[in-house]
Amino acid sequence: MKVLRNINVLKKAINSISNLGFIPTMGGLHNGHASLIKKSQKKCKKTLVSIYVNPKQFNNKTDYSIYPRNIKKDLSLLRKLKVDYVFTPHTKEIYAIKIDKKIKLLKYQKILCAKHRNGHFEGVLEVMDRFIKIINPSYIFMGEKDYQQLFLVKNLIKNKYKSKIFPCKTIRDKNNVALSSRNNLLNKKDLNKASLIINILLKIKPLIQKKSFINRYLDLLKKNLSSKFKIKIEYLEFRDENNLKKSLSKNKSRLFVAYYINKVRLIDNF
Ligand code: AMP
Repeated sequence: MKVLRNINVLKKAINSISNLGFIPTMGGLHNGHASLIKKSQKKCKKTLVSIYVNPKQFNNKTDYSIYPRNIKKDLSLLRKLKVDYVFTPHTKEIYAIKIDKKIKLLKYQKILCAKHRNGHFEGVLEVMDRFIKIINPSYIFMGEKDYQQLFLVKNLIKNKYKSKIFPCKTIRDKNNVALSSRNNLLNKKDLNKASLIINILLKIKPLIQKKSFINRYLDLLKKNLSSKFKIKIEYLEFRDENNLKKSLSKNKSRLFVAYYINKVRLIDNF
């Protein structure tokens, strides 16, 4: 496994690879990331994983400073998984690259996380634009756990790069909590709470599809869950998975949730 720390060295190492799979990550690696890597290894000749905690996508300084980082552990996991390349760039170099124009979300895109995390997706899209320009992968493997991110990145690149997004299913722990680097910030009690909430929502999803006043029902559910578990629920919405518009339909829709447990922000969708 080659660990590459700057752009020129990276470009030299990968420029002759015709079928490169790319997995962008912020480290704190877990089995969710591993599942993306395994998908890439099946589909592509070589696999490159980036580990980069992008300051621009954090709308909250504390969130950025406490984000779980453990590069030694991450590299050891990536070695075990037999990844070909790891890219761990410096912010200065990444942001020195020229890109076409500043990315701005349109008004109709400011929903779900975009509504509540000002500037977050602009930061994600900008760093993805820079990474794709440098790496030029055939496939980019991304998790459905971050469905809105996947949707927006797909949109960003569709007319701009030849790279294709490969969506990957959400990996959960044995109690159904979606794996996330942020789970490291939770204690056992908090994780147990997350599991209770997610299991209620998983059970309720098929019932929601049968309700006639979905939005009113979800508002009530949000209130009940917030008071039962003493948590803040930022959003609980049912949306069409193809265009992310609010959905009243039975099929191809997902329930999206963002909530805080002990100041740790968790998101999920199913
Ligand atoms: P992150 O390191 O959190 O920025 O995530 C890097 C990639 O891994 C993103 O495409 C995520 O959607 C994906 N990912 C994170 N958690 C999971 C999970 N539990 N299952 C599947 N993919 C995931």
